[in-house]
Amino acid sequence: MPAMKSHARVVVVGGGVVGCSVLYHLTKMGWKDVVLCERKELTAGSSWHAAGGFHALNSDPNISRLQAYTIKLYREIEKLSGQNIGLHFTGGLNIAATRERWDFLRADWARHRVLGLSTELLGPAQIRKLCPIIDTSDVIGAIYDPMEGHLDPSGATHAFAKAARSAGAEIYRHTRVIEILPTGHGSWHIVTDAGTLEAEHVVNAAGLWAREVGQMVGVQLPIVAMEHHYLLTEDLPELQQLPGEIPLVLDLDGEIYLRQERKGILLGVYEKEATPWALNGTPWEYGENELLPPSLDRLTDALDKGFRRFPTLSAAGIRRVVNGPFTFTPDGNPLVGPVPGVRNYWAACGVMAGFAQAGGVGLALSQWMTQGEPDSDIYAMDVARFGSYASRNYTVAKGREFYARRFQIAYPNEFWRAGRPAKTPATYPTLKAANGVFGVSFGTEVPLYFATDGELSEETPSLRRSNAFASVAEECRVARNGVGILDISSFGKYLIGGPRAEQALERLLAGRIPGLGKIRLTPMLSHSGRLMGDLTTMRLESDRFLLGGSGYLQTWHMRWFSHHLAADGVTVKNVSDEYGGVAIFGPQSRELLARLAQADVSNEAFPFLTVLQRDLGFAPALTARLSVTGELGYEIYTPTPYMHALLGSVIQAAEELDARHVGFYALNALRLEKSFGIWSREFSPDYTPRMAGLDRFIAYDRPNFIGREAAIRDRETAPKRRLVTLAVSSTDADAAGYEPIVLRGDLVGFVTSGGYAHSVRTSLAMAYVNAEVSDTEQELSVTILGEPCSCRILTEPSIDASGSRMKS
Ligand SMILES: Cc1cc2nc3c(=O)[nH]c(=O)nc-3n(C[C@H](O)[C@H](O)[C@H](O)COP(=O)(O)OP(=O)(O)OC[C@H]3O[C@@H](n4cnc5c(N)ncnc54)[C@H](O)[C@@H]3O)c2cc1C
Repeated sequence: MPAMKSHARVVVVGGGVVGCSVLYHLTKMGWKDVVLCERKELTAGSSWHAAGGFHALNSDPNISRLQAYTIKLYREIEKLSGQNIGLHFTGGLNIAATRERWDFLRADWARHRVLGLSTELLGPAQIRKLCPIIDTSDVIGAIYDPMEGHLDPSGATHAFAKAARSAGAEIYRHTRVIEILPTGHGSWHIVTDAGTLEAEHVVNAAGLWAREVGQMVGVQLPIVAMEHHYLLTEDLPELQQLPGEIPLVLDLDGEIYLRQERKGILLGVYEKEATPWALNGTPWEYGENELLPPSLDRLTDALDKGFRRFPTLSAAGIRRVVNGPFTFTPDGNPLVGPVPGVRNYWAACGVMAGFAQAGGVGLALSQWMTQGEPDSDIYAMDVARFGSYASRNYTVAKGREFYARRFQIAYPNEFWRAGRPAKTPATYPTLKAANGVFGVSFGTEVPLYFATDGELSEETPSLRRSNAFASVAEECRVARNGVGILDISSFGKYLIGGPRAEQALERLLAGRIPGLGKIRLTPMLSHSGRLMGDLTTMRLESDRFLLGGSGYLQTWHMRWFSHHLAADGVTVKNVSDEYGGVAIFGPQSRELLARLAQADVSNEAFPFLTVLQRDLGFAPALTARLSVTGELGYEIYTPTPYMHALLGSVIQAAEELDARHVGFYALNALRLEKSFGIWSREFSPDYTPRMAGLDRFIAYDRPNFIGREAAIRDRETAPKRRLVTLAVSSTDADAAGYEPIVLRGDLVGFVTSGGYAHSVRTSLAMAYVNAEVSDTEQELSVTILGEPCSCRILTEPSIDASGSRMKS
């Protein structure tokens, strides 16, 4: 082992598969002065006892891409390191035994075309041909992915380590990091039991101990470890006769997974009652060839299902039972990226499927560290996607739920129940009493829709249109003809102030900064000119601004702000919880506001995109004239303690008007009718302003904003893809996202979001399509739940193309 250096550019804490991959990727990106500290031997956490299975399929498309990258990397790593990693590309089957699951798999399969994955749908006979030990009597079909397989977990970890070492990295084994202390000049002292070294950056890749390594810098990472079992059987005669290996099998309805191990079977189980491990902290002495005592009685139900699906297993002898812990986050995805509030401290932890994800995590993190941003939108695994609501208890509750539901269908309209309600808007009791049906965003309950009288005030999870349909239709009708009332307390709100606030915003935002009392849509760009935000900026005073954005991005936005707005003479405050809000929209909204304000709120007195600061009832209110519905509309904000009173006044003033509570489902339909994009769907760091049609909001002539040079280059190059809206001929289901769009058999684009547009009684989808087809009048096809549906590009928004309703 090399003698410890006194200084390194990066110290990676943890030598599991993730830490070793990060180390390798940093060297690949050209950073040579990088070291890794491992408490014991490499793999001494979860990595050594993993089942070693890998697969590219994931519900998030960008994570899927990174998983596919991980898998492709293995051959390269094996070659570079000379380390055999026991690669078995067996292919993998995801089996469906219910109609619903089959729909779900077919929808997934269609999306794989967009992701460039070559998966196939197979029927029972084809499944049996690949895997003769499976009972397919109730099986409808399966997705087959040739990229799946398994490897030797220890070999893979060592291969990353060797490749990193040969590129200049150093690895210190038996070196436990005990403390991480700021040096006072932006770097860290890494105190280990073998000496101290100084580093510019620290990466927490400490796996089972990531929480502890987070606490060393005062950070509580939302991670919980769960026990997990798999069994290894004796050799099976059926497998001995086969020339090759059977594929990896996920029996999704049975909730087991299985692969061949020599001539026997490895069978893994996700029990319904997940068992968290080491809740009070992972013992430092745990690890290196250590396992937990197996608990076979917990597996009885799952094994019964397994034996039914693979009858030969019931007679097989069990050679070994493994029970080992590994980590989960509240949504099952990793925690990657700069940890908010702690400079030069990076996360690469909470990785549940290390052998499918380590390569992608290493790639994204090393891009971020060396070039300032990852190459693609990795929000789904960004450590900044959670907020303070992700407490220890919340994390345990959600982690258990995720584990238990690991293979269950994730319906697009289903908001899982664990950890709820945690945060509620001040108006929650009123909205509940009005038959509000709630979802959750960033830990806060948000109204999805309001069940009409006599309707069940609960939504049935469905891949198709749900029982919410009629209520949402009524909400849309009222919003277009009367006045809709929507609690928008969950929106993100930030106060930026100080004598240098305007100057700082001119650097941060790519759009024009509004004049006093005015509002502007102000995109925010990354250094490479990709979208970083679609904020609304309101100027309340000459040196005081309110920025509004999607509520679930609060930590993400604040991390960006603290990097780019921190300057003397500028204050930045996240006031999302301190201010609630209610939006009113529709042709009668002006009348409603007039009753509330008891003032002239005519178009002349209170024009579009301006702010009115005036009490409404007892509530000190800030009213902004804008609406994402594309209707005449207003967003009214007030300090949270006044929210209940404000909503009460709004409801009272709405008497005799055609008014109704409206939820976020209707808002989604209304904005689709206007072809208005939203964050994470049409807008994200995967797209540039030009592609997204946001270039008209960019102040290209203003010098010095972040991403300006790249934005100018973007403006001068014809975009490869353009954002369009499609009218879709579908009967009972709408596009949900990432469905392929096809012209005469060729893939020409993909959906970003979709839904039923009640006002125009058609299914709509927004989509990025190749620029050359973006104005085609030809019929296209979009695959929804596996069925091709014809569609056509709309030349203008379905409602009020001139925008006169919202402006007049
Ligand atoms: C039974 C079981 C089966 C599994 N099957 C699969 C599978 O088939 N496919 C798959 O993809 N995944 C599987 N996994 C999950 C997989 O094992 C993990 O996702 C992966 O190992 C996580 O790797 P890691 O590097 O993040 O963490 P770890 O492997 O836990 O590594 C963290 C390392 O950090 C070191 N460390 C911690 N603190 C310090 C410190 N202070 N100083 C120095 N070093 C420190 C530890 O000693 C450890 O070596 C399975 C897990 C289990 C338990």
